[in-house]
Amino acid sequence: MGQRWANLENLLKMNKEWVQEKLNVDADFFNHLKDIQRPEYLWIGCSDSRVPANEIVGLEPGEMFVHRNIANVVIQSDLNCLSVIQYAVEVLKIKHIIVTGHYGCGGVKVAMEHKRMGMIDNWLRSIKDVYCAHEEEVNAIPDEEGRFRRMCELNVKAQVRNVCHTSVVQDAWLRKQELCIHGWIFDVGDGILHDLGVSVHDRNQVHPIYQSE
Ligand SMILES: [Zn+2]
Repeated sequence: MGQRWANLENLLKMNKEWVQEKLNVDADFFNHLKDIQRPEYLWIGCSDSRVPANEIVGLEPGEMFVHRNIANVVIQSDLNCLSVIQYAVEVLKIKHIIVTGHYGCGGVKVAMEHKRMGMIDNWLRSIKDVYCAHEEEVNAIPDEEGRFRRMCELNVKAQVRNVCHTSVVQDAWLRKQELCIHGWIFDVGDGILHDLGVSVHDRNQVHPIYQSE
């Protein structure tokens, strides 16, 4: 057996160990899990392997609905992300949508440069728009690392707005459904999550042009 397959075998072995750990704590863990999921949160985060959603907030399976893509981007024509938001809001009736970016995001870094990476350039294009909208502020930061960190934050803020502008979220607020959108950022360097203080819980906090009636 080659080394590559040996590594995969190891993952299956570790899965069995994880199952046993869960059963040691609660013998009915999987009986409860298979029946229903009642998460209160939707996490929209980056695919980056260093930002595992459930793990960094200490939540168990069944406690958080998760959507991840490169650079935690919310694009109005992305059927995948929009479907996740719709299902989470209308069926699961989650109460919080948390857009979580992270410092050192490779997607944001690529968007700030000029190098062609292929297909992904299209996906990350909207982050260049974020840069253009805040060019003066970002360029005033003297060091490159500082500019990069600020762009990671600004990207989260832009994606929070994009979530608020979706018809799903607008309609939820219109029918008085309890729903709050948040913007957080994770520091890969120390493991701490920071609230960027951009939470939105009411349609009137959004520009009127995006409000549905
Ligand atoms: Zn990232």
